[in-house]
Amino acid sequence: MKIGRFGRDGVISFGILDADAQEWVILKGDPLFAGYETTGERVGIAAVTLLAPVIPRSKIVAVGRNYREHAAEFGNAVPEEPMLFLKPNTAVIGPNEPIAHPGGNVDYEGELAVVIGRVAKRVTAANALDYVFGYTAANDVSQRDWQKSDGQWGRAKGFDTSCPLGPVIETEIDASKLGIQTRLGGAVRQNSNTALLVHPIPMLIEFISAAMTLLPGDVILTGTPAGVGRIEPGDIVEVEIEGIGILRNPVVAA
Ligand code: MG
Repeated sequence: MKIGRFGRDGVISFGILDADAQEWVILKGDPLFAGYETTGERVGIAAVTLLAPVIPRSKIVAVGRNYREHAAEFGNAVPEEPMLFLKPNTAVIGPNEPIAHPGGNVDYEGELAVVIGRVAKRVTAANALDYVFGYTAANDVSQRDWQKSDGQWGRAKGFDTSCPLGPVIETEIDASKLGIQTRLGGAVRQNSNTALLVHPIPMLIEFISAAMTLLPGDVILTGTPAGVGRIEPGDIVEVEIEGIGILRNPVVAA
């Protein structure tokens, strides 16, 4: 099921995309908390403005260097344990919303995002997928100068608009082997598969939830493949994940 969040006449709703992807079946409330009860109302996809499918309630936990070839392209070793950092929920934007380029050297990082559906505290990898609501695409936009100069990554990866999410949350997909591609101006720059994650999703949930409780609506960014590169104002960046869709954002000067 593809769950979307969208605005229409000043009202924000959630919906399920119908089988031919032409209409949204509108839901009562937020499916993360209210389930999938429908209002009986439908709306054409052209009649709404898509928004980020989730605004994390408490946190976005991101994983660094989780594809071997990406670690290698920056001359880094693959960490033995997942390397975590946090992005604030104020960084989230939706499909088609502009990434506000803060100046300096800024990179795209296409990533698979996991949306948590249940409170997860010290869960095991064996049970971890029971806590997943679904999956979406993300761009872990990164300001490299700040990443180097600050010694930690809060500003470099936490500035406003640095976390595009969308276009939808797919709730019924096996995310262990999905094609992931990032395109800049239509040219393929990253082309990989989630099967190459160094630390797979169940292990990430076990590792993260051993340290911090994950709440419904929290998001995990699973890391980016090789091929990261610069974005500049005027660019269009697209992250496509097989079975989920295309997250497209223009870049503008902040
Ligand atoms: Mg990243």
